Amino acid sequence: WKPGTEKPRLVDDEEGGVLFYTASSSSSSGMEKQRQRLPVFKYRTAILYLVETHATTIIVGETGSGKTTQIPQYLKEAGWAEGGRVIACTQPRRLAVQTAASRVAEEMGVKLSEEVGYTIRFEDITNSELTRIKFLTDGVLLREMMDDPLLSKYSVIMVDEAHERSLSTDILLGLLKKIQRRRPELRLIISSATIEAKSMASFFDTSRRRLGRDGEENGPRKNPAILSVEGRGFNVQIFYVEEPVSDYIRAAVSTVNAIHDEEPMGDILVFLTGQDDIDAAIQLLTEDPHSRKQGLIVLPLYSGLPRGDQDLVFSPTPRGKRKVVISTNIAETSLTLEGVVYVVDSGFSKQRFYNPITDIENLVVAPISKASARQRAGRAGRVRPGKCYRLYTEEYFINEMSADGISEMQRSNLVPCVIQLKALGIDNILGFDWPASPSPEALIRALEVLYSLGILDDDAKLTSPAGFQVAEIPLDPLVSKMILASNDYGCSEEAITIAAVLSIQSIWFSDRGAQKELDEAKLRFAAAEGDHVTFLNVYKGFIQSGKSSNWCHKNHINYHSMRKVDEIRQQLRRIAQRIGIALKSCEGDMQVVRKAVTAGFFANACRLESFSHNGLYKTVRGSQEVYIHPSSVLFRVNPKWVIFHSIVSTDRQYMRNVIAIDPSWLTDVAPQFYQHQQLNPRPH
Ligand code: ADP
Ligand code: MG
Repeated sequence: WKPGTEKPRLVDDEEGGVLFYTASSSSSSGMEKQRQRLPVFKYRTAILYLVETHATTIIVGETGSGKTTQIPQYLKEAGWAEGGRVIACTQPRRLAVQTAASRVAEEMGVKLSEEVGYTIRFEDITNSELTRIKFLTDGVLLREMMDDPLLSKYSVIMVDEAHERSLSTDILLGLLKKIQRRRPELRLIISSATIEAKSMASFFDTSRRRLGRDGEENGPRKNPAILSVEGRGFNVQIFYVEEPVSDYIRAAVSTVNAIHDEEPMGDILVFLTGQDDIDAAIQLLTEDPHSRKQGLIVLPLYSGLPRGDQDLVFSPTPRGKRKVVISTNIAETSLTLEGVVYVVDSGFSKQRFYNPITDIENLVVAPISKASARQRAGRAGRVRPGKCYRLYTEEYFINEMSADGISEMQRSNLVPCVIQLKALGIDNILGFDWPASPSPEALIRALEVLYSLGILDDDAKLTSPAGFQVAEIPLDPLVSKMILASNDYGCSEEAITIAAVLSIQSIWFSDRGAQKELDEAKLRFAAAEGDHVTFLNVYKGFIQSGKSSNWCHKNHINYHSMRKVDEIRQQLRRIAQRIGIALKSCEGDMQVVRKAVTAGFFANACRLESFSHNGLYKTVRGSQEVYIHPSSVLFRVNPKWVIFHSIVSTDRQYMRNVIAIDPSWLTDVAPQFYQHQQLNPRPH
């Protein structure tokens, strides 16, 4: 290892020692003391004053300083939730919504779902009468605007983690700025872990516009206030590898083991990129006899993690043990883990990238930015001076890592975003007041797809009823379109089941090291038509078993996922009925199911080009080389024509969730999108 040359940050350890390293006590006075020790507490009065006097307040403070859990409570204590009003706090990530809400409920000594609640897609843990503090994803708040465009029940909306610049956060900020003009009493708080407060402040500065006409009117000031919360971070010493590593998972594992052998007690936080990486690392740390160590408690952390596993991550480390949390970048700023002293940073995260030319959106493992690397390192300095091991060279950090990331708006497929704005009556999308403008190519591409789907008309307005119906369904518009089309094909029950399965991560139980058994189990349900039909078989089996956990266990199916599928199905059925879709089953006629899938996903059609490399396909539009993912039941089956649900990139671009189609359906469902000659086989 080579120590970094960057000057360590200033240390502020006047309070010294190991703070907060006590088990979280549930006695209210202990809890009260804990709350008062958080850095934001010193700013309580200032925050409340600024919120009172300014329409928008921007609060910057290090991760763990208490922004998310404390500020909503301060607002409530100061009366912002009186008279039936609600305080909202948004997060980009679902897991962060859940953990923040349960922590705040615990601190307030109330039952989660009553005074404090949360809403994420398909999970509403609030009470319309009782809930005063509500945590929700920014996406859910956007959806609420469809019923209540001015968000009138909220007195204060805190848009948290604004530095992440998620797609929904950016859309939300643009819309909130509009709402503010109509609702001067509404207060916004924009909070973030890093300082880019100035550009945010100028975005929200509407003071000029009002001057002269209204003069010094009553009410809050229109220029945003900025408050910076002094953190209490300790020194973090940075180490770099001397030579680039070829396998960051193995490098991370050996670094964890080296820390455990040589360094004093203190928990380790490892940043990898996704569930597959994390599972692989955990397997090495817990099962490989060469690298297994005594005294280590190895835990995963990613969104979609079952509740029990989440709780383990946040529970105090038993005496004499060392906790190793292996996480996605969710632990970068969204969640605070107590007791972390060592950070191992792979230098990568999973990021969404959309290419409007090829029309492919990828989830790619990509290098993080310097800003992210600093955030990650900072996680080691919460309780005492810490160490961060970067699995990349210092030369790389200094010369090659980009300073800041690119906002999601600028690297996403904008189809969902455009339909949402259209549904809210924003017709001039190009002229919308964005915090960061999306690329015109991506916008045009989105308009084109929505037009082909029959969701937008020639004037780029939502079609009636199809466009409005699709906008009502809280799913990716392509999935919503599939459900809508299934109405015509008489298979809405099947389409809804498929949509429910596609909206969770996986229905299979991936037992580490039991790949063979899993593959065999999959074969029992595998359908020649593809993965979507396979999902229908699994769901049918689940229902026939009486929703038995035993049955799931025997078939390597994740019981919790199936329960969730069942729950989401019920919600989607209610929505479908509300928007006039008749619930009907096609009783085993899989041709109509495949046609319905095609009607939603025609833009993802691919043709088999050659059998090399287990089957090389090309997308019909864009001619991109893609392959069927090994997890698909069509892997190595290679039908001539397929449609995929999503793409993941590793060494190649892999299609996940694939279904075989007949190419003539493409011109049936999307004549504007596909011309006949595109679909004729090319002469070789
Ligand atoms: P911020 O939003 O500024 O990053 P938070 O409000 O999330 O900070 O966290 C403040 C503090 O509250 C943390 O440092 C930690 O001590 C405590 N805390 C937050 N969530 C939990 C939790 N789920 N379990 C235990 N302690 C927590
Ligand atoms: Mg926070």
